[in-house]
Amino acid sequence: MVRVRFAPSPTGYLHVGGARTALFNWLYARHTGGTFILRIEDTDKERSTDASIDEILASLTWLGIDWDEYYRQTDRTDAHLEAAELLMSKGLAYEHEGAWWFRVPTEGQTVVGDELLGDVSYPNDQLKDFAIRRSDGSFLYNFVVVVDDADMGITHIIRGDEHLNNTPKQILLYRGLDRPVPRFLHVPLILGEDRSRLSKRHGDTAVLEYRDRGYLPEALVNFIVRLGWSHGDDEVFSRDELTELFTLEGINKSAAVFEEAKLRWLNQQHLKRADLDRLVDLVEPHVLTRGNVSEEMWGEADLDRLKTGADLLRDRSHTLGDLGWAMEMLFPVPLVAQDEIEITDAQAELLGGLAEILPDVEPFTPDRIETAIRDGLAARGAKLKDIALACRIAVTGRKAGPGLFDILSPIGPDLVAERLLGFAEGKAG
Ligand code: GLU
Repeated sequence: MVRVRFAPSPTGYLHVGGARTALFNWLYARHTGGTFILRIEDTDKERSTDASIDEILASLTWLGIDWDEYYRQTDRTDAHLEAAELLMSKGLAYEHEGAWWFRVPTEGQTVVGDELLGDVSYPNDQLKDFAIRRSDGSFLYNFVVVVDDADMGITHIIRGDEHLNNTPKQILLYRGLDRPVPRFLHVPLILGEDRSRLSKRHGDTAVLEYRDRGYLPEALVNFIVRLGWSHGDDEVFSRDELTELFTLEGINKSAAVFEEAKLRWLNQQHLKRADLDRLVDLVEPHVLTRGNVSEEMWGEADLDRLKTGADLLRDRSHTLGDLGWAMEMLFPVPLVAQDEIEITDAQAELLGGLAEILPDVEPFTPDRIETAIRDGLAARGAKLKDIALACRIAVTGRKAGPGLFDILSPIGPDLVAERLLGFAEGKAG
């Protein structure tokens, strides 16, 4: 039975790199029907904070990563002491200046049989004895991680390759403690677009910041998993598809490159697939934060109208922020005109004419709107193409967007008429 873990040190935010480690382990557990363990490695008392633990838990929860077992390393001090005493009693560790040191063999080599990288050999004489317990009685990472992983029956350790050089020491500890050595898989690091190590400058930002920037959790999950894992040429995966398809064989040997444009594109793909009720809920704060639509206006708006509007406007939105901005056009607030157009007096008159007939269209559906507009224009000897662009800009503030009749429908007859008139008058004036 697969047992894997994510073992963050609570010394800051959960970043993209950490989230990837969590995801690979979680997906592997879910794919195999195994167990995913969350272990907070808080033995470094000076740097660990409760706020960081809260942030990590909130980030994982937002990403939809659930855990089957939860531990805090500091709750396990007795087990750590017992294991350290065992090494002392076997002569495998010794005390020096109050600290306890693990004795590394001076000959031979320790081989890390990595699932991805193959065998990586470390001459033992280069590893040197290392401390397992400080003189203040606290324990060090390489030691506690082994005691915990052994006690928790971890079968596979999947983590970033910055830990590769710790692994031979950890293997020696497993052997010293007479515990089975788990399998290791070290995932190549993530690079920024300039091919240097990913940093905050490149987008290695806190996971929850992506939420605030209007990304969907399933899009971020998709993006992060693709940083180092692939399945043919496929790009867009739902959470269920990922759990179904994820295997360790799909993890890539070469470093992944973080491309912000790809994240935006993936978010657009997931926005298109999102359930509409959920999408409307998710976009609400992004509309309200703009400060034009009040909470009251939002609350009073007809849900079907919001859903229709969101459905039409999501195609051109990369983030919930984009969608929130676009959805303002559904509310009686001044339009942020993205595009402008000059119109003739004749066109202004036609817009005014449409403003008169549209409030009588019942129900205000795309079909009925189309018929009314075409008939109204025909009666005045005009055609749709004479006025379509002006009409669109008057009502939506921009020249591109969903089908004209489609988008007029959720905006509603009164608002459409008001905007047409205001636009026509403004131009005439
Ligand atoms: N607490 C370690 C870290 O955050 C865990 C490393 C490991 O997975 O063994 O880097």
